[in-house]
Amino acid sequence: MDTMKCPKCGQAADGWKCAIYGAVSTAHDDRHVHESSDRYCMPRCGPCGQAVVQCTCA
Ligand SMILES: [Zn+2]
Ligand SMILES: [Zn+2]
Ligand SMILES: [Zn+2]
Repeated sequence: MDTMKCPKCGQAADGWKCAIYGAVSTAHDDRHVHESSDRYCMPRCGPCGQAVVQCTCA
């Protein structure tokens, strides 16, 4: 298992989360994309539980 880190706060990521729908998953689905958006299934920041683009820790 890779240890992922949140690029915003540098703390450990915990699973994956869709930045659009907020769906949480334990595995990355690289087919999970949203047209006309660059927000999709991405690492979930561990401490705040938000998708990393929405991390509120920093
Ligand atoms: Zn973070
Ligand atoms: Zn989604
Ligand atoms: Zn955070």
